[in-house]
Amino acid sequence: MSQAPPAGAPRRNGEVSHWMAADTTADPTPVEAPEPLPEDADLVVVGGGLTGLWTAYYARQRRPDARIVVLEAARVGYGASGRNGGWMSTLLPGNRAVYARRAGVAPVVAFQRALIETIDECLAVLEREGIEAHQVRGGQLSVARTEAGLARLRAAREGHLRFGYTPEEVELLDGEGFGARVAVDGALGGLYFPATVRVDPARLTRGLARVLRAQGVTVCEGTRVTGVAAGEVTTTRGVVRTRDTAICVEAYSAALLGGRTVIPVNSSVVVTEPLPAATWDRIGWAGQECLNDAAHTFVYCQRTADGRIAIGGRGAPYRYASGLTGDGEVPLATVRALEGRLRSFFPGVELPLAHAWRGSIGVTRDWCAGVHHDPVTRVAVVRGYAGHGVTAANLAARTVLDRLDGVASPLTALPWNEHDSGRWEPEPLRWLGVHGMYRLFGAADRWEERRGSTRTSLLARVGSRLAGLHE
Ligand SMILES: Cc1cc2nc3c(=O)[nH]c(=O)nc-3n(C[C@H](O)[C@H](O)[C@H](O)COP(=O)(O)OP(=O)(O)OC[C@H]3O[C@@H](n4cnc5c(N)ncnc54)[C@H](O)[C@@H]3O)c2cc1C
Repeated sequence: MSQAPPAGAPRRNGEVSHWMAADTTADPTPVEAPEPLPEDADLVVVGGGLTGLWTAYYARQRRPDARIVVLEAARVGYGASGRNGGWMSTLLPGNRAVYARRAGVAPVVAFQRALIETIDECLAVLEREGIEAHQVRGGQLSVARTEAGLARLRAAREGHLRFGYTPEEVELLDGEGFGARVAVDGALGGLYFPATVRVDPARLTRGLARVLRAQGVTVCEGTRVTGVAAGEVTTTRGVVRTRDTAICVEAYSAALLGGRTVIPVNSSVVVTEPLPAATWDRIGWAGQECLNDAAHTFVYCQRTADGRIAIGGRGAPYRYASGLTGDGEVPLATVRALEGRLRSFFPGVELPLAHAWRGSIGVTRDWCAGVHHDPVTRVAVVRGYAGHGVTAANLAARTVLDRLDGVASPLTALPWNEHDSGRWEPEPLRWLGVHGMYRLFGAADRWEERRGSTRTSLLARVGSRLAGLHE
């Protein structure tokens, strides 16, 4: 007999994610009986998340006869791609000031333009391939609820304009303009990014896998890769000889790339039950925008296709020695914290919780993503989106294929190619650093709220410096 959840807790906790549990379009192939493992391939992709699947997709488009194999340790969408907040956003997967210091501003502008255009590319593929991922181009709203947050958003807009956005792509809203879209309590103003698309992560990821299988790509679930060498990939089910390999395992990179390259930083999400029409009349949100706030401990939200609110944020951010989150069960304290933030957005509104889960984002030492390729071993690696991988995975995939093909293209000139992020400190410094940063951010938020300050707290600036996040 299953145990009842504690009073007021969500009905479900873990089970990978609400998206994965609720998706009725799942491929019927059971993980326990995976597709036969081929002995030879032209391209082996390690990881059945968005990066791996997009890589396989474009490889198939380019070479209709190529033998392409995706190897996934658990099942397609088990990682961040099946657990995320569903923002196909314009936000760069990295710190643009860091990229600019190495490469100059113009390549970062080109990167930003390529990323924004990638959203159109993704939508075009979904349309062409008949993938119904509940995609809606409602844009992204960032709300400021403190004076300091509002000042930060204004400064962020200046940065966006300097690094490649047009004024129409990042609009400033006053409190009234913001409230006309979503009635967030205490909204002083915000930013609106019209290009952002809301998606259902599981439908997107599994939809891609379904298309791949129909196009003759072998997708082996339940197949963990234990070693990658030139021309050969070793798995728990045998060895595959291959010409090219792309490693796309993001937060799970430690086992294949070493523990100090990418660390898993956790993000948790709770989703409500479907809310009644009267609630939506009160809240608004008719545009189905993705929504976040300007707090240092920011949250991100979406209104789902079936009228729920999903809200995500940090909480329990990092486990000692890069521990992973398994099937994603969330500590109750984190559920409570997210629920509290949601209730503060919409006070007095009934918001019964249905499901909570968490997953890990892959973070490099300088919080910048990188696309890497060794022309000798013919192994490519994508890593470190730091929580902004839904759009970037598509761009990374096309970039990886240009690199594997030895093509010099606008994509291979973007500054994340061979970006060296350095290495994380050994433990316990890593644990202390990540936890210290989030503590400082939490304290900074409380200080700014209490003081009504128009300036960002010094604590947050120290936290950003600690993480290398400052611009
Ligand atoms: C809670 C949460 C919310 C997020 N929200 C957003 C958002 O709204 N917008 C956004 O842009 N980004 C968001 N992100 C980040 C985004 O989801 C990721 O950047 C993106 O999905 C990464 O895709 P991926 O394919 O590189 O990695 P993953 O999706 O993690 O896929 C890696 C896959 O590799 C498999 N694997 C691992 N090791 C092995 C091995 N040895 N052999 C074979 N397979 C292996 C894993 O099982 C996994 O399925 C969020 C992430 C989380 C966790």
